[in-house]
Amino acid sequence: MEFIHQQVALVEKQLAFVATDPVDWKTYVQIFSWGVCLFESYLLLRQYPLYSKKEPPKALAEHFTPEVFAKSQAYGKDKAQYALVSGLIKQTLESVMLHYGIYAWAWGVAGCIIGMFGYGPEYEITQSLVFSFVTYLASSVPLLPLSIYQTFVLEEKHGFNKTTPALFITDMVKGWMLAIVIGAPFLSAFLYVFKWAGDRFIPWLMGFLLAFQITMVIVYPTVIQPLFNKLSPLPAGELRSRTEELANKLKFPLTHLYEIDGSKRSSHSNAYFFGLPWSKHIVIYDTLIKQSKPDEVEAVLAHELGHWYYMHPTKFLVVSQLHLFTILALFPAFMHAPPLLRSFDFPKHVSAKPPTIIAFLLYQMIVTPLEAVVGICMNAISRRFEYQADNFACMLADQLNSPDMADMGDRLGRALTQLHVKNLSTVWVDWLYSAYHHSHPTLTERLRALEAFRSAKAKKE
Ligand SMILES: [Zn+2]
Repeated sequence: MEFIHQQVALVEKQLAFVATDPVDWKTYVQIFSWGVCLFESYLLLRQYPLYSKKEPPKALAEHFTPEVFAKSQAYGKDKAQYALVSGLIKQTLESVMLHYGIYAWAWGVAGCIIGMFGYGPEYEITQSLVFSFVTYLASSVPLLPLSIYQTFVLEEKHGFNKTTPALFITDMVKGWMLAIVIGAPFLSAFLYVFKWAGDRFIPWLMGFLLAFQITMVIVYPTVIQPLFNKLSPLPAGELRSRTEELANKLKFPLTHLYEIDGSKRSSHSNAYFFGLPWSKHIVIYDTLIKQSKPDEVEAVLAHELGHWYYMHPTKFLVVSQLHLFTILALFPAFMHAPPLLRSFDFPKHVSAKPPTIIAFLLYQMIVTPLEAVVGICMNAISRRFEYQADNFACMLADQLNSPDMADMGDRLGRALTQLHVKNLSTVWVDWLYSAYHHSHPTLTERLRALEAFRSAKAKKE
């Protein structure tokens, strides 16, 4: 522990200028965030012309009727336009908020509000909670029309939207309630760790965040998800017995097997698993069950269990903890830095003793470009995992000595293709766009890899 604190102190020393020199951080953030936004727009412009192609790639040709392919291209085009426009709007809003010192203003407003209840600036955590609420409203309410457009115009036009206006509003209200019920205590505890541990916050904060994540794994499916969706036990039948048998053979600790009414909001489909190491739950979307045959859904689950078998979620957790550690290790240099706050228009009396939430918020803005790079690396890891899980499904017959699973790769290929076609997912993908945005390989890439796994297997035999 002492070693960590020493290293962090060394880093802080290297970055000592942050706390002393007047750097024009605001301009940096403006330039960097516009840089990221314009790069994302450039990627969309690279991808856009591919939506005008008249034919699917050869490997997929047999699965697409000309009408379905045209529909998929039209959907992709509309989504790309939406992404371009909404990205620029969001960035403009961010930029305007920065330019006019909205964060400094919101901190002042929060101070006035708690002042009305007789609390002074010494109640930093209370003021931080009100501040978060004010900035949340200022940044999300202007974007509401965008999400209304996305749900009721874009998705509606292409036949995916199942959300009614009443459901949209109740979802939003439930989201706000959750933010208050879970977000407020979380933020208070988060800030309290800083207050209590001072500059030695890193191990405590990481411990707290890990404990929070684990709690959420338990609380999310039992308390939160039922607020939005209905999880019902998968009825007895071919799919249930296939899944139970598969889990049994792999010694996957399956506790519950659910069907989720994903079709309540959208006709996009999927399947996933979650839970603690000794008690796991599998959730299958009703849309997937409707679209694919039981043996194909089984192949999708075999892929999902491949993620479990190779401990992909755990590996992701380790990588994300390392990432978090790096972010936190650089933070102390920005924690007590009056010039940082002054460059974002905070008045002298606030910047003299920077509130933790403000320092953390500004620090996050500064590391945004770094986060874009981290995102690309995470996608690269995730793609590797996807191939590995596909391979796992392909090789299952050998591993479990079950000849009836020999065609698992074909089934998976069919299920993936059906999912892709039904979801009208993008068919032609620009490589750079894909590297930046996609955590999964494209369908063509996956089918090609499945083919390669199978021929490698055939050669061995
Ligand atoms: Zn996967």
